[in-house]
Amino acid sequence: MNNKKVKIVNTNQDNKDGALICPSCSSSDVTYDIKKKVLKCNYCSFTFDEKPNSELIKSIEQENGEIRGSGTINIKKNPKKVSLICSGCGSKVIINTEETLNQRCHWCHSILSVNKQREDGIIPDEILPFSIEKEEAIRKIEKFIQKKKIFGNNKFYKEYNKEKIIGVYLPYVLYDASGHAKLKGEGEKFFYPFRRILQTIFSKNENIYKDSKVYDAKVYKISRDFDFTLNQLSTESNKEYQNNNIINSIMPFDTENCVQYNSNYLYGYRYVIRNINIEELKKKAAKQVRGIIRYSMHPYIKKYNRGVHWKEENIKINSERWTTVYLPVWLYSYKEKDEIDYIIVNGRTGEINGKVPLNKLVNDLSAIVLYSFEIVLIIIIIIFWINNPYNKIFVVATVLIGIIMVLTLFFPRILKLIYHRTKSRHFYEKETKHSIKNIIQEDLYMKKRYNLKNRKIEGCNDSKLLD
Ligand SMILES: [Zn+2]
Ligand SMILES: [Zn+2]
Repeated sequence: MNNKKVKIVNTNQDNKDGALICPSCSSSDVTYDIKKKVLKCNYCSFTFDEKPNSELIKSIEQENGEIRGSGTINIKKNPKKVSLICSGCGSKVIINTEETLNQRCHWCHSILSVNKQREDGIIPDEILPFSIEKEEAIRKIEKFIQKKKIFGNNKFYKEYNKEKIIGVYLPYVLYDASGHAKLKGEGEKFFYPFRRILQTIFSKNENIYKDSKVYDAKVYKISRDFDFTLNQLSTESNKEYQNNNIINSIMPFDTENCVQYNSNYLYGYRYVIRNINIEELKKKAAKQVRGIIRYSMHPYIKKYNRGVHWKEENIKINSERWTTVYLPVWLYSYKEKDEIDYIIVNGRTGEINGKVPLNKLVNDLSAIVLYSFEIVLIIIIIIFWINNPYNKIFVVATVLIGIIMVLTLFFPRILKLIYHRTKSRHFYEKETKHSIKNIIQEDLYMKKRYNLKNRKIEGCNDSKLLD
């Protein structure tokens, strides 16, 4: 990025600390109505909502340089207590922003909120309000854990309490970028040389080509030169939740529906505070942009069925934009030994995932039962085999059972994998909206390569992600 000056979009100019007044009756009892998905006055039932910030939804292609919402401020302080004067009755109300951003005044019941962005980074630019109701989240969580009951930990089921399911806003950073990319490399496609055709026809071995497992390919020098745009690449911005597999697996969120932040959306919900600055996310974003660009080239390199090795990747960002947001999840957390585990429901899509602790005894026992069953089976097969020594079926069966027995040794591990889905990552390259324009494609035939051992071109990186 050559342009050093960062343009800040003020996303917080109208937000004041204190009471949010109903535009219709001036009551200060305004909360988020999840059924109607709007802010609602509990006194006169008037509804209204926040709109997205017009500066933040401008097409990134038409921008220049680096843009940031004012909610991306570098974090300089820890959250602390904020004292407000109630506009309803004049009493002093103290809000501990580490835990909540709203407090009802004891005397007149006005809802007072902390809305102004400050140096603790609590107030983001935008928010994506919940649309999945708590009852639905409870149903989903109960169905989810019910399915895992056979091998699940009894204590977990005994202690399950739906009251502990809470709505939480998690801090994310959204990144838009637009620029120009020039990729150069080599692509290869398989071909069937004439002599191979002859070999196949005249050779006694009909499948000489297939059997030998060698390939022949035509080599092309290729380049792809194009403009690209990507929208709302999302990254966790709390260290504890970063790269969390369970959260990754409930992505994506429909972040295009974010609206300007207002603390009254948070009334009755919790939040996790951002503790990562934009500068710390830049390296990761740059890698992911490269990943998205490689992915976006797939339709343009289709004919290279032996793959492409990109040797040069010049990516120039012309404009980029950073926005901080709160995204909604329903969370059931519990402590197992010293570890806190979660079951989590996407507050927009209802996508669910989580970790149910395994019942060690049941798992060990079922492995033993399975193993004994297999031993009995193998003995029976061997007895039959001895009686029919020339029947090949028994050889196959013995080998098969042997393989299954070895697999059974991994039974607890396989179960854990199914139960805990530990390998889930954020499929950002598929989930981030992106587009390619003005592409210039050059494909120059170079030479042929014969008798290649690998199915993939050497150095193949057209799908390789840097994560
Ligand atoms: Zn009202
Ligand atoms: Zn008051």
